[in-house]
Amino acid sequence: MQNLPVYMDYHATTPVDARVLDAMMPFFSEHFGNAASLQHRFGWIAKESVDIARKKIADAINAQPKEIIFTSGATESNNCAVKGAAEANRSKGNHIITTQIEHSCVMESCRRLERNGFSVTYLPVDAFGNVSVDKLANAITDKTILVSVMTANNEIGTIQPVSTIGKMCAARGILFHTDATQAVGRLPIDVETMNIHLLSFSSHKMYGPKGIGALYIRSKNPRVAVTAQIDGAGHEYGMRSGTLNVAGIAGFGKAVQIAMEEMDVENERIFRLRNRLQEQLLKIGGATVNGNCAERLPNNLSVTFNGVNADQLMTEMNDVAVSAGSACTSEETGDIQYSRVLHAIGLDENAGKSTIRFGLGRFTTEEEVDYAANRIQSVVVQRREQTEVVYNEHQI
Ligand SMILES: *Cc1c(COP(=O)(O)O)cnc(C)c1O
Repeated sequence: MQNLPVYMDYHATTPVDARVLDAMMPFFSEHFGNAASLQHRFGWIAKESVDIARKKIADAINAQPKEIIFTSGATESNNCAVKGAAEANRSKGNHIITTQIEHSCVMESCRRLERNGFSVTYLPVDAFGNVSVDKLANAITDKTILVSVMTANNEIGTIQPVSTIGKMCAARGILFHTDATQAVGRLPIDVETMNIHLLSFSSHKMYGPKGIGALYIRSKNPRVAVTAQIDGAGHEYGMRSGTLNVAGIAGFGKAVQIAMEEMDVENERIFRLRNRLQEQLLKIGGATVNGNCAERLPNNLSVTFNGVNADQLMTEMNDVAVSAGSACTSEETGDIQYSRVLHAIGLDENAGKSTIRFGLGRFTTEEEVDYAANRIQSVVVQRREQTEVVYNEHQI
């Protein structure tokens, strides 16, 4: 039997690939220099490794190295993109358009902008999680300065029509930001052909270390103005001060390189495993798949098991690490007690609380898929039987 628990939460984070760890190790010890210390060899070596990583990361999305800003992760990248672009373009207007299913770091950045005098449109999505390009176009006013729509959703895997949105924004002279954290390394991304102005992503979602991410800021056609959110000694072209995380950056670069080299083969394998899991789970009955089955991340599977509480299911199935639709929203002030993404695609509270997200990845095996499917089946059937008993007792 494989190692337990089985990890199926690759949307939350991924393990560091052994090859990535190898690439990082020297920068903790012998090559410990500060990449900004350009008076000596220690600094040069650090700077060189940062340059190499920056080039690999830029290449992966068809950008220029100088258009890549290193951050602490996608949360910071999204904050910098949304708040920084809003601040820098305030004189042109104060309206921003985003969606109801963005990651909370985009959502909360927008909420803060609202408190500071901006107005934000949160576009609804359809039952598959897709934003309507027509609705987006209709929401544009002469005050609109920024559109922020994620490339692929972290809960239901739905892929948005990013190219179409990018083209429309470019034609209207509006900045287009996309949170591509779940997409880079899994889907081909090209900031040129997709007309992207700002793009956020993170190392730890693609087998790199935590605490390092990137923000792409377009430098020409047009040159995008963003106000720095972290001031200091002027690192990263003045966009993000602070001593660079050299080991993290070296690891991120290696992780991106591996993802680019292996994406096609890896996606095919994971896609097949995901479909195998989906098939087995649907056989349980009373189960539905969420998201857009055609335009969906190959590693994503969100399933609603009717009449079964997801938190209970996860407690009883603690040898399979998955995530419930109720996660991440507990601090929210609104009255929605379950995932606002599931709410946005039309699931009611019961369905939302009966939803499990599976995220497959590089180290998922067929054996693990079958194990997870069997475990879920037995727990779901058991839970339903118990609910039935309670229900019948109430009847008496
Ligand atoms: C994980 C994730 C983030 C946050 O990334 P961090 O690097 O953990 O800050 C943002 N957006 C999406 C879509 C994510 O999946």
